Amino acid sequence: MKRIGFGGIATESCTFSPAVTALADFTLLRGAALAESGRYPFLSDMAGQFLPLLHARALPGAPVAAHTYQNIKTEFLTRLQAALPLDGVYLDLHGAMNVAGMDDAEGDWAESVRQIVGPDCLISASMDLHGNISERFVAAIDMLTAYRTAPHVDVLETRAKACRMLMHCLAEGRRPQITRLPVPVLLPGERTSTEYEPAAAIYAALKASDQRPEILDASIFVGYVWADEPRASATVIVTGFDEVVCWQEARRLGQLYWDARHQFQFGVPAGTADECIQQALAAPEDGIFISDSGDNPTAGGAGDIPYMTERLLANGVPSAIVASIVDPGAVIRCIIAGLGGAVALSIGGNLDPLHGERLSIRGQVIRLKEDDPVGGNIAVVQVDGVKVILTERRKPFHYISDFDQLDLDALAHKIVAVKVGYLVPDLKAAARRAFMALTPGAVNQDIPALNYRRVNRPLYPLDPAMEWQPG
Ligand SMILES: [Zn+2]
Repeated sequence: MKRIGFGGIATESCTFSPAVTALADFTLLRGAALAESGRYPFLSDMAGQFLPLLHARALPGAPVAAHTYQNIKTEFLTRLQAALPLDGVYLDLHGAMNVAGMDDAEGDWAESVRQIVGPDCLISASMDLHGNISERFVAAIDMLTAYRTAPHVDVLETRAKACRMLMHCLAEGRRPQITRLPVPVLLPGERTSTEYEPAAAIYAALKASDQRPEILDASIFVGYVWADEPRASATVIVTGFDEVVCWQEARRLGQLYWDARHQFQFGVPAGTADECIQQALAAPEDGIFISDSGDNPTAGGAGDIPYMTERLLANGVPSAIVASIVDPGAVIRCIIAGLGGAVALSIGGNLDPLHGERLSIRGQVIRLKEDDPVGGNIAVVQVDGVKVILTERRKPFHYISDFDQLDLDALAHKIVAVKVGYLVPDLKAAARRAFMALTPGAVNQDIPALNYRRVNRPLYPLDPAMEWQPG
């Protein structure tokens, strides 16, 4: 039976964030805990001996501290060494990690793995389509696949495909090759959701690649826009057995993406925070969601900029929820004040003082929740018409149940301001209407205004008049 080691590291690092991602921000799964984690339910149906090594994942955020990365990598490589000999390795990665002082962390990771397993072992990887893919990374592995949906609803299928390709190649005794075509376009996920055109049609074009027998996988990486690194761009990756055919498909897909570059738009009406608030107030419905997109923690924002809270209060919104502001000190003060207690707080602006500043509020503690598995202790403070959710740790609000657990009826409020980009499926289904507020933060949607210094130029939309031909 073939022996396959598996594991990896997954986070998305915003290089415009002044914060740092440390070891405590990672969830580590080792050995049996990794095998039983539910990340790989398909492995039991595969005819290999899968050896769980280590997987580390963190919410998107700031660059990873160098010593944190080295600690995790050292443990992974030690476990990999102990698992030898191996016929194959499956790497479960994100693809947009930045380590302080090091570009192309995934390239470093893959090269280190190759050095240990040797040249004959086959290495397969699966990634998020928001990964930035270097030649160095691709040269160290043998096959690569990525999500085909954003929001990502094909996570398990993608992991399973990476393992299936690996098992197929091991069974056939064949080594595929990877064709990599960078496309000089760098756009945010909010403009490239596969639920809207033109991305929906571009990703549908992958099906034609699947029909070609020489091709194992074709993937289009949108890339990760808030990374000021040379590798940051869209990339087409084709894994297969015939280099000519792989290049044909890569050029076809790359051309489609390039030709559509001017057409990528937000899926919902977008504007300043005040424009979105005023349009929501003028609408007849309750349950209107406004994305506080510049401080979206699942894109790498800090999650503690109180700008939307300030604008909702300034606009005198009669009924709103803010989800959420991470501020452990403010949560403690709410706990001390107790349920129903009056509080005067200065909230937010700690993790990202570069893009936000603290906001003074006075209100009443109306909810207290202990030990949320993600957010830690949580308090809700009523300030005029606005309920402000304060969390001890960074917590995305991606489900209506996140509000239900705080006994908050989200849809009964006029406005629900959430720190997300595009609305994730559960919120999208619930929202009676949605707007994208182009708010300040480390993941600001105004891409040409970002302070890029190190990306390869020319690059669209930083150089809007540039020309390009695939390969
Ligand atoms: Zn993603």
